[in-house]
Amino acid sequence: MTAEVSIACKYESFNALIKINDPELLLEVLMSQLTPDYNGPLQIEIFERKGAEWHKLSVNGYASIDFDEQRRFILQHKIPPDQTNVWFYQTSQNGWYCAYKPQIRKQYAMFISIDSSDYVIDEDYIQLLFGFYCHQLCGLEGTYRDNLTGLYNRKAFDLRMAALTAKNPLYVRRHNFSTPSVFVMLDIDNFKQVNDTHGHLYGDEVLTIVALLMSDSFREYDLLFRYGGEEFAAVLMDVDDETCQQVLNRFRLKVANYDFPHNDHITVSIGYTDFNNSHNVEKLIERADRALYYCKHNGRNCLHHYQALRKKGLIQVKQPES
Ligand code: GH3
Ligand code: MG
Ligand code: MG
Repeated sequence: MTAEVSIACKYESFNALIKINDPELLLEVLMSQLTPDYNGPLQIEIFERKGAEWHKLSVNGYASIDFDEQRRFILQHKIPPDQTNVWFYQTSQNGWYCAYKPQIRKQYAMFISIDSSDYVIDEDYIQLLFGFYCHQLCGLEGTYRDNLTGLYNRKAFDLRMAALTAKNPLYVRRHNFSTPSVFVMLDIDNFKQVNDTHGHLYGDEVLTIVALLMSDSFREYDLLFRYGGEEFAAVLMDVDDETCQQVLNRFRLKVANYDFPHNDHITVSIGYTDFNNSHNVEKLIERADRALYYCKHNGRNCLHHYQALRKKGLIQVKQPES
């Protein structure tokens, strides 16, 4: 494959992504375009400089300062803030590359790890691709995150869920991306009362804390959304039934035991359903919502699994289901 062919193919994909407006898909296309003729494991880490600090960007939209010390050393000592392009190869670290491309206000870095030491990467090609990626990512900023909580917003939810359930070949998941296991809806209990007692500003503070606890409780590849108001949604990746229940219950307890300002006790109710990508988004929402509704009518501060409730005959099917 010549560089020209690769670049033409990249343009097509990136043009499509401008319309899709989804950072995870953007990363997915970047990965597939970086190494179009290599099918082995590929790991990419993206970092963003914020002031003096580097943050690792995760696909769930969160930026974390908690990452590998080797990466931190390279980021802090090898990439001067005022320089336009840095590129090097670390033989001492099993073929780690690093490139970066600044924006008007930003600076991004990328680490690529490839298992095969024989695979040759064209530096110019990667720098060009990474530049495109950075520009697109920069343009997306603010359009897919909720301003208050920093989680994915409703618009991102619609796009991401459509992508996860669609049969469109552009959305086919590649490389080592994870597979969705469950779809979760969670809702803060008696939140209206919280607002009524302490005011809207305090209510906003509670929403921010709950979102932080969410991002602390789930892994970086799980997708977290503010669905609307005091309702959140999540897609948990690669978990079995038992682990899923443990993870969600741990989050529920974390909220219930958290020392909110005013010594308030805030709780959440959680409904979830198996993620079946032959279903449409509406069906996933309806099922998780029915499990959530069951929580609300059975004491709140609890979690329920749609399929388990069905099995126990605790909720009935409205109409025949496929
Ligand atoms: P339930 O346990 O049944 O969920 O009761 P609830 O009071 O949480 O539910 P309800 O739907 O009656 O009230 C939701 C409240 O959430 C009402 C609305 O004012 C508040 N709310 C929605 N969005 C925001 C927001 O962005 N900030 C604040 N402070 N409040 C919000
Ligand atoms: Mg509520
Ligand atoms: Mg609600």
